[in-house]
Amino acid sequence: MVTIRDVEVFVIDVPLQRPFHMASRAITRQTEIIVKVHTDAGVVGIGSAHGTPLERVAEIIKKELAPLIIGEDPRNTERLWQRMFQTTCAPRAANTATSGASLPKGLGRPQVACAIGGIDIALWDIAGQLSGRPVWQLLGGCRSRIPVYATGGYYAEDEDIKDLAGEFSGYVAQGYREVKLKAGRLSPEGDFERAKVVREAIGPDIALYVDASQGWDVWDAVRAGRLYEQLDVAWFEEPVHWYDDISGLAQVARHVRIPITSGESEFTKQGVRDLILHGHIAITNYDCTKAGGLTEGRKIAALAEAHNVRFAPHHAAHIHAHLAAAVPNGMNVELHPDPQRDPLWERLFEKKPAIEGGEMVLDDTPGLGYILDEGVMARVATEVR
Ligand SMILES: [Mg+2]
Repeated sequence: MVTIRDVEVFVIDVPLQRPFHMASRAITRQTEIIVKVHTDAGVVGIGSAHGTPLERVAEIIKKELAPLIIGEDPRNTERLWQRMFQTTCAPRAANTATSGASLPKGLGRPQVACAIGGIDIALWDIAGQLSGRPVWQLLGGCRSRIPVYATGGYYAEDEDIKDLAGEFSGYVAQGYREVKLKAGRLSPEGDFERAKVVREAIGPDIALYVDASQGWDVWDAVRAGRLYEQLDVAWFEEPVHWYDDISGLAQVARHVRIPITSGESEFTKQGVRDLILHGHIAITNYDCTKAGGLTEGRKIAALAEAHNVRFAPHHAAHIHAHLAAAVPNGMNVELHPDPQRDPLWERLFEKKPAIEGGEMVLDDTPGLGYILDEGVMARVATEVR
């Protein structure tokens, strides 16, 4: 028997050098919640969560969920996941509380799902370390490498779209074979001009994806999608506004011959199920660090497989590579190679998976296999007690 002894939570919130605009908002800070789950065997699992408000998610981990798992065997990932998730079901929440802390009672469910994700990822890291096997193998081990795509093309305040050519040919020069361009902020015609510059810069052999970040209504999305068909765009991500992302997506899928990608804004397998069944998506980019962790993510991957939907998890490549490489429908993982956009990718790790020829290479290190740079952690992370 191995038992969980303690859960530590750290919040990282660093300003970016400049704002990175997407369809309807700007990214001005890089944030991260790091979860360390300590066991009485001396093994420490490290998880990661991406959610807002940061302090609320961290507080849920520390005060509401940690008391539910301390003293339990960390390898019982499903049992612990179910126990944590029960707190989102108001009538039974009071029965599962052991801490006396106030439970969400139906409010803040996305934040609870995010908090579960951070803990669950740490538990899988522990399970791997205790078994002496890497998590990608524990989850199925379909392959040990997975393609990585480069995301860029954020809108600058004083944009010259010719700059996109240099940015994206730079990604190709770094070895990336797949790239993703931001869209949805301009008119369909305006954004098509940006995509044209990128396609010309990368040539015909590099896969080009477009992410509208929920920026358009259905008919603008259809108009944009039909323009993108001319550029052989291989995925059209979150084309419609948040409030119509089931029927609206289905309408876009009916009129556009580009696979529709969605899922990063969902926080349950049921939400992704509805996107598949009723939104007619072809690719899901569910994010295990935003909600649910690897326990939820692997069910979503299997659900997707049964519907011929590809699994291409959003962001956090060092974690998602393990799941995408483990399953037969794993397509790729996402990276923001621009260090101004994602400074933590450059700085936060003492060890992380290598990227070779546009693929992330997973090795045999037990667990998730990355090591945080504790010197950097000491400078940028604040512990939540
Ligand atoms: Mg997106």
